[in-house]
Amino acid sequence: MPRPIQATIHTEALRNNLARVRAAVPDARVWGVVKANAYGHGIERVFEGLRGADGFALLDLDEAQRVRDLGWRGPILLLEGVFEPRDLELCSRLNLWHTVHCDEQIDMLATHKTHQPHRVFLKMNSGMNRLGFTPQRYRTAWARLNALPQVDEISLITHFSDADGPRGIAHQVAAFAEATRDLPGERTLGNSAATLRHAQAADVRADWVRPGIAIYGSAPDFPERTAQQWGLQGAMTLASKLIGTQDLQPGDTVGYGSSFTANAPMRIGIVACGYADGYPRHCTTGTPVLVNGVRTRMVGRVSMDMITVDLGGVPDAGFGSEVTLWGRASSGAVLSIDEIAQAAGTVGYELMCALAMRVPVVVD
Ligand SMILES: *Cc1c(COP(=O)(O)O)cnc(C)c1O
Repeated sequence: MPRPIQATIHTEALRNNLARVRAAVPDARVWGVVKANAYGHGIERVFEGLRGADGFALLDLDEAQRVRDLGWRGPILLLEGVFEPRDLELCSRLNLWHTVHCDEQIDMLATHKTHQPHRVFLKMNSGMNRLGFTPQRYRTAWARLNALPQVDEISLITHFSDADGPRGIAHQVAAFAEATRDLPGERTLGNSAATLRHAQAADVRADWVRPGIAIYGSAPDFPERTAQQWGLQGAMTLASKLIGTQDLQPGDTVGYGSSFTANAPMRIGIVACGYADGYPRHCTTGTPVLVNGVRTRMVGRVSMDMITVDLGGVPDAGFGSEVTLWGRASSGAVLSIDEIAQAAGTVGYELMCALAMRVPVVVD
């Protein structure tokens, strides 16, 4: 028998989350962001649940190829654009729309031989200072692109740094609106947080939104709001089983570094899941976990292949009992990936992206 750990991708949750995003911005088209192998879920595994999107946005050309191989003929957008001139040939062949964020990418287009002009998304650095042309340089870049026979339609794109936090997006929206006021072309601004939190701002709705994390069922602004409060459902469950138990006496310690000490008699369960499966090693005693659908806590340190859990509230649990690390238990009980991420001092994005290769994945 294989080791009992398994991840499950929930097609119905993906559909629900996409519908939830659409409801927030009914007039916008929706890019399903499937970069990083669909945030660790697997592009091929999420495709069925997300095929109702208007397009797919990603970074890697081989991921674009995989989306085409699935039979998708609609829009695909490369969020970082091309990395070298010959990538443009693949863009032509696969009909990919691509971001243009720097002069070097315009230079590549200018020397590209193509019969089919490209649709590009000209990126503005409206304050995040990662990719894009500053508002002052944006128009020059637009004019350069507009003069190229290799370019057909120019759309306008920017990205927010603080859509999930107190600073918000108003300053970036203003910079973008000001610098693009009389430019033609479709606009796309909002990620998940902007789409859910700031949908009332007409500028955010724009023509397209670009949700990633929300469609995978994690709250973009946890813990201010939970996935449940946003009506989102976790699209990934990580589950395993107990492969042993131990009865502890007061003073007994658990695991590497003896970081947990029992102060009363207690029973613990040993779970076939560790950091080599993608469970974060930064989680410590107290991190929530479901055993037989009942919420309990991890004790001690996460090791490579195992964690240890308190069975105090789950007296019927034993060898083979179901353990839910995040996601949905067979009882229907839910443990949000955001809670585990918080316990590890990180965000849901990182956990889902870090699901390890050795974990078998099924789709339901
Ligand atoms: C990753 C990404 C998104 C999606 O962001 P979420 O926070 O996951 O919704 C949107 N736009 C761009 C440019 C991105 O790189």
